[in-house]
Amino acid sequence: RAKAAARGSVVFYEPAMGDQQRERRALQDELRFAIARDELLLHYQPQFKIAGEIVGFEALVRWQSPGRGLVSPAQFIPIAEECGLIMPLGDLVLRHACREAARWHMPLTVAVNISPAQFRNGDLPHQVHTVLMETGLSPARLELEITESVLIDDFSRAISILSRLKALGVRITLDDFGTGYSSLSYLHSFSFDKIKIDRAFIGDLATNRHSKAIVRAVIDLGHSLNVPILAEGVETSEQLALLEQSGCDEVQGYLTGRPEPIAEYGDLTGRIHVRPRGYAAAG
Ligand code: C2E
Ligand code: MG
Ligand code: MG
Ligand code: MG
Repeated sequence: RAKAAARGSVVFYEPAMGDQQRERRALQDELRFAIARDELLLHYQPQFKIAGEIVGFEALVRWQSPGRGLVSPAQFIPIAEECGLIMPLGDLVLRHACREAARWHMPLTVAVNISPAQFRNGDLPHQVHTVLMETGLSPARLELEITESVLIDDFSRAISILSRLKALGVRITLDDFGTGYSSLSYLHSFSFDKIKIDRAFIGDLATNRHSKAIVRAVIDLGHSLNVPILAEGVETSEQLALLEQSGCDEVQGYLTGRPEPIAEYGDLTGRIHVRPRGYAAAG
């Protein structure tokens, strides 16, 4: 896909249509078994205040497939959405992330990605409420990351679901801002708790004056609306310095910490060991 290609993935060959469909069917079948066999796991990537303090972690799902190795969500989330598996998968991710965060000694947030399909089908507020009750996680520590596509599908239904989620006390983050439709009317009709600028604008922040202008404008817009801005995909200290100068509120990226099993950032007793703004080696 164009988006994947733009993000630097390598396409080795272009399979014929028949091959593609067969591969898709195979993935669907394997994924169905993967959920039953507990082959899905979560990696956690730290999010930091620009001054350095850790705020929380984003949970990012992975599939440890016996045949395929560690499969990226970019590959299997779209498949799961097509064949309805996103519902059990989404429930599993939410449950695991909340259970994990409830163990932490520090009241850090955990951010969970929610697919548009989870909005369309089922009763997300009810599901979230149930998981919070079962895990004992305080609602204020759960952030749900959604993209604008959720609002495009069925605007009034989406707004009503978001309002019910807000009423539970959970936070709603707008993910990948700047890549989708980025209609300002969405910012007008719902108060997001955070906006994440897509890493497409961060990658060339130091070299492309247009990206720099857009990033600054989004930060200013966020501040006018009283919404904190997080920059995703921060890979270099130069990008970090520019974001700091521009008044960005939070950062997340390979520079400050890669997505890793939680054991990389904490211990079995739930103690989290992340130094201020990590400074893990970049690249
Ligand atoms: P996202 O929510 O925008 O997550 C950020 C993606 O950027 C993650 O890719 C993360 O590993 C990657 N990333 C973080 N820092 C950097 C950096 O400095 N440089 C670069 N190049 N990349 C960075 P990942 O884990 O492959 O996930 C891709 C997408 O898959 C996510 O984008 C999200 O849309 C989706 N996804 C992941 N986990 C879940 C899930 O549990 N449920 C659903 N519905 N979607 C998920
Ligand atoms: Mg996200
Ligand atoms: Mg994102
Ligand atoms: Mg994304």
